[in-house]
Amino acid sequence: MIYEDYYIFTPGPVKMSQEIMDIGAKQTPYFRNCEFSEVTFACEKGLLEMVNAPKGSKVIFLTASGTAGMESVVMNLLSKDDNALVVNGGGFGGRFVEICKTHDVTHRDFKVANTNLSDIEALAPQEDYSALIVNAHETSVGHLYDLNAMGAYAQKNNMLYIVDAISMLVTDKLDMQESNIDVVIASSQKGLALPPGLTMVILNPKALEKVQEIKSLYFNFKDYLSNGERGQTPYTPAVTIMLQLEARLAQIKRLGGVERSIANAKAMSEYFRQSIKGLPLKAYTPYMPNAMTTLTPTDGKSAMDIVNGLEEAYKVMVCPNGGELREVIFRVSHMGEMTKEYTDVLIDSLYDYYKIDRA
Ligand SMILES: *Cc1c(COP(=O)(O)O)cnc(C)c1O
Repeated sequence: MIYEDYYIFTPGPVKMSQEIMDIGAKQTPYFRNCEFSEVTFACEKGLLEMVNAPKGSKVIFLTASGTAGMESVVMNLLSKDDNALVVNGGGFGGRFVEICKTHDVTHRDFKVANTNLSDIEALAPQEDYSALIVNAHETSVGHLYDLNAMGAYAQKNNMLYIVDAISMLVTDKLDMQESNIDVVIASSQKGLALPPGLTMVILNPKALEKVQEIKSLYFNFKDYLSNGERGQTPYTPAVTIMLQLEARLAQIKRLGGVERSIANAKAMSEYFRQSIKGLPLKAYTPYMPNAMTTLTPTDGKSAMDIVNGLEEAYKVMVCPNGGELREVIFRVSHMGEMTKEYTDVLIDSLYDYYKIDRA
């Protein structure tokens, strides 16, 4: 399978730019030196700037997929003496619940549907919590939560506010200071449009204070923080992805800053949603991020058949769902290097698939 021939609308990995792919084709350099420390520092600086982290914040770079970012945050910052309110609106919220169970962190499985939690105060079960955990964009269904409202609630109740921003960074607004966020979890293969393999944890000073001694060698944040002082990691980092991250952060700046990338993702998602109005498809949730559109067939067609049909006939990759939503929804990512022309390939394929003329 030559993936370059495909049109990529899957929510990770996403369409990467040529500039980033070219870096991936080069010899991986040695990294225990000042040159590479500078790369780490540039990545840290760029990320902190992008999320408007408060002064004194730090970034931990882990060579692993995003779930390791989620798990390591729970391991390093929470314990059985906490009571974490875990927002569970789908597969990724459910994963945080599993992680808390695995590490004996006291938690409440806060199952939510049909709300962006702008009224979390009224909806949350009344208990004393020490932490609030949420996947800003619940990627399993394409649902975006109200980060500001949740941040105000967390601040009022003195909770540590942990946000998995993996599938909305770069496409949707995230401002640590405005939303009072203490921890941001990022990952390379979604909005950042890099290959998978690098996850980043951003800790503000309040979260840094919470970092505890833990029973883990590889995921010990204290170790990462002390090595980070000199721009290094305790173990071999995903060197090439770090080089790609440095270039990607510079690219985002060059293209007008993250606000510009967000505006572009918004324009692409709106263009797509507008253009498919003539098809028997409807939005699955009213709270869609710019990052992704989740669609339900209204004519009884199987969502899985549409996914397969698009791949077979047009080399267009959209994303199916597992489990009970398998036949009910499919997902279209707007993350990565998206243009109108590129999005048109998907739109035209959908119209052709349905044998309906595009207006
Ligand atoms: C993709 C994703 C993750 C990470 O999944 P990995 O497969 O471990 O990289 C975590 N949270 C959200 C919301 C995601 O979309």
